[in-house]
Amino acid sequence: MQVEVPCPKCGKTRMNFPRPQPVDSDIITCYHCDFELGTYGSIKRKMALFMERLMQADAKAAKKQ
Ligand SMILES: [Zn+2]
Repeated sequence: MQVEVPCPKCGKTRMNFPRPQPVDSDIITCYHCDFELGTYGSIKRKMALFMERLMQADAKAAKKQ
């Protein structure tokens, strides 16, 4: 799964992965400004929470119809 979290410094979503299959403890940096975005594990958690919110919003919208 492609994880995309916007960089807090420059707002871009492109990330620099240290290897093609990162492990949860790898530090992910911003591709554009080298800002440390945190570990791959923490980014995956953020992305999962974000997807969950999107799906809950979708479910609410579906109920209204
Ligand atoms: Zn950045």
